[in-house]
Amino acid sequence: MSTFQAPKGTYDLIPPESAKYLAVREAIAAPLRNSGYGYIETPGFENVELFARGVGESTDIVTKEMYAFETKGGDQLALRPEGTASVLRAALEANLHKLGNLPVKLWYSGSYYRYERPQKGRYRHFSQVGAEAIGAEDPALDAELIILADQAYRSLGLRNFRILLNSLGDKECRPVYREALQTFLRGLDLDEETLRRADINPLRVLDDKRPDVQKQLTDAPLLRDYLCDACKAYHEEVRELITAAGVAFEDDPKLVRGLDYYTRTTFEFVHDGLGSQSAVGGGGRYDGLSEMIGGPALPSVGWALGVDRTVLALEAEGVELQLPALTSVFAVPLGEEARRVLFAKVTELRKLGIAADFSYGAKGLKGAMKNANRSGARYTIVAGERDLAEGVVQLKDMESGDQTAVGVNEIVAELESKLG
Ligand code: ATP
Ligand code: MG
Repeated sequence: MSTFQAPKGTYDLIPPESAKYLAVREAIAAPLRNSGYGYIETPGFENVELFARGVGESTDIVTKEMYAFETKGGDQLALRPEGTASVLRAALEANLHKLGNLPVKLWYSGSYYRYERPQKGRYRHFSQVGAEAIGAEDPALDAELIILADQAYRSLGLRNFRILLNSLGDKECRPVYREALQTFLRGLDLDEETLRRADINPLRVLDDKRPDVQKQLTDAPLLRDYLCDACKAYHEEVRELITAAGVAFEDDPKLVRGLDYYTRTTFEFVHDGLGSQSAVGGGGRYDGLSEMIGGPALPSVGWALGVDRTVLALEAEGVELQLPALTSVFAVPLGEEARRVLFAKVTELRKLGIAADFSYGAKGLKGAMKNANRSGARYTIVAGERDLAEGVVQLKDMESGDQTAVGVNEIVAELESKLG
């Protein structure tokens, strides 16, 4: 061990486990790529004000969890705690919304940073894959995103997740509900900070995870009973489209989620094998966000799925991912001439797309065969001076243990046909 360790709340992705993370990212991205979403990458940090305005001044993310700092040049920046504000900022900056092809559909994958109390499934550095559909108000778009997330989880083999769905209303009906909720909250026995939150953003109190608060919220008024006709019709159509797609969901009238910018459709994906860090992903519609960060009105919808918790969910369900073999062929040269010959064969195999590796460093046959075993290779090719003098290499089938001599000039074609 060195003098240093990974910072608190972080961990390293190391082989072989790291392959799972790549596979999860790939599985989430695949249905998006297949549905008109283009890849976007934004910086790991932004002007702190983007998040303060875009995520919301009263959210835990902004008040407690953000890594904000001043640069040597005096800029106020923050490590990104989430993806949506950055993606929308970048889309507006590049005028993607003016190219006449709305919605602008984008997907991203990367690292996010929140100063949280580290626990299993809750880290200070974590990774998300996300999708945003910017500039269209259409229930089919909300449904599309929910269906694609469901497809992504299912393609990984996950089964024990649930989709929670709610509508947060819009600027017509939410203010009326907000006031009713505020009146209700003021009558409760809450600490000062929570009362202050009830004043600034009462809906967020519904998201409070403390049992003593939740107990008092049993009779809280529900947004469901306050939705205007337009929001009700919109929500009903989202529900119908998801149902028609065969995707099961649960109505959760108390689901509000932690960010200020959501309107209408909100949803969360929860997994029951994860203890208290049960949310594997979430998202919703954010019709007001563009204007909040100085852009035009651009109704939009998106989600972010947590890669770390998805990996934990796979482990909780005991799902073994079908990962491609790291090495199909391992080459073991015995002597100088064999090194040159087999190294050239390995290079040829790799050019053909066959995963091949080589025994490096001067090793005896025993040590080299140990490496061949560890590599998981299906075949090993071994060659010594005597083999080469006869114009052959030894091809060993690592499953059956059978060994046969194959001509030096035939070995690549032979392996290619064997590995199909
Ligand atoms: P939670 O309620 O658990 O704090 P959240 O509402 O803050 O989650 P979002 O901001 O919606 O989470 O982020 C989307 C997803 O990113 C989450 O569902 C989760 O899978 C993942 N995520 C969020 N914060 C963390 C974290 N600190 N560590 C690991 N994954 C996280
Ligand atoms: Mg959180």
